[in-house]
Amino acid sequence: MTVIRAARALLPEGWARDVAVTLGPDGRIARVETGVAGAPPVALLPALSNLHAHSFQRAMAGLTEARGPDPRDSFWSWRDLMYRFAARLTPEQVEAVAEWAFVEMLEAGFAAVAEFHYLHHAPGGDPYAEPAELSARVMAAAARAGIGLTHLPTLYTHGGAGRAPLSPGQARFGCDPDRFARLLEGARAAARALPPDARVGAAAHSLRAVDPEGLAALVAMAPEGPLHIHAAEQPKEVADVQAQLGARPVDWLLDHAPLDARWCVIHATHMTEAETARLARSGAVAGLCPITEANLGDGLFPAPAFLAAGGRFGVGSDSNVRIDAAEELRTLDYGQRLRDCARCALAERGSTGRALYDAALAGGAQALGRDAGALAPGLWADLMALDLRDVALDGLEGDAMLDAWVFAGAPRPVAVWSAGRAVVAEGRHPRREAAAAAFLAARRALLAG
Ligand SMILES: [Zn+2]
Repeated sequence: MTVIRAARALLPEGWARDVAVTLGPDGRIARVETGVAGAPPVALLPALSNLHAHSFQRAMAGLTEARGPDPRDSFWSWRDLMYRFAARLTPEQVEAVAEWAFVEMLEAGFAAVAEFHYLHHAPGGDPYAEPAELSARVMAAAARAGIGLTHLPTLYTHGGAGRAPLSPGQARFGCDPDRFARLLEGARAAARALPPDARVGAAAHSLRAVDPEGLAALVAMAPEGPLHIHAAEQPKEVADVQAQLGARPVDWLLDHAPLDARWCVIHATHMTEAETARLARSGAVAGLCPITEANLGDGLFPAPAFLAAGGRFGVGSDSNVRIDAAEELRTLDYGQRLRDCARCALAERGSTGRALYDAALAGGAQALGRDAGALAPGLWADLMALDLRDVALDGLEGDAMLDAWVFAGAPRPVAVWSAGRAVVAEGRHPRREAAAAAFLAARRALLAG
């Protein structure tokens, strides 16, 4: 039994002093006690789940920030570059890039990740001998890094709205439902080697890439576990889907897919007021990726209206251009402030940092289908410890610590546990050097190619 002591801890009933948390051998929280002597100066919090990532995209972070010859340079030219990069990755490189991204997520305070995985096949589009080869590579990376994994094999059939054929850059993504069923089965088999907190759900890439029949087939293949889909990220996508299906993407999903608490709608940026309220009432999580959405110029999520209607959200690192849990929350809030010329719009009352953190804890755990999100017995021990001697936190109490963490200093956690696995100690992941070296070798090879 591991016992973690902390001078302050965020429990379901609020902040507590001098806490001892006992971890069971199964990776779950066994006991929480307060008023225990000898606690070190750390604040222990439930750790966030990163609800949306494409780990391979970490390899192109920072490489798409120059304007190209196309004066309409935008999301769509970013996507072209991503395709060119994705076309060359070997299975070994996929694994190396994923492990490094997972190490960075853990060091940033994310204990778990939902990997939205659509890079399936060999270059050119032929299946690997084992159809779920690249799912298994991502799983191996997650196992080595120790991050909690919700793996989401992703159906991707068409190259665009109107059942357009796949472009050469999309060949590695493509599956019809039959091919996808074999891949999903392979991923489920591979996941049996993972620790018991790992899960396999499923995803549809988008209503551009998946037709209504494909979406229905996917839902039938995944009778339980998380279901994710990108929707309404860009105005062009909304227009394309409206032209093809006769409805805006979120409206269409609400009318034609069994949207409920198993679902996570990624981005949901461009919604009408009615869509916003309907999505909130569905119980689905809105999967917000504020840093990526800012980087890609997607637009701003209508957070105040969504929250007023009882909506749930979490945050994801998506393109992984930056991996930083506090920065995701800060970017989310600053976007709303800039649009609305208002401050602290996402806190019903009191602390914005606390409101953001509580919402992202609950929404992230729900989106991953993970028994986590609170420091309470029976849940997976997903925890992070912040050093109370850090200049950003020293002398602060209660929710002011979270406000300072999100908005003022964002110190990295000194320790992180994922389902009881001690994955970060003294601010470092034990595989930081080895994983960085493998990542850099992969990126050098990709840049040389
Ligand atoms: Zn995405």
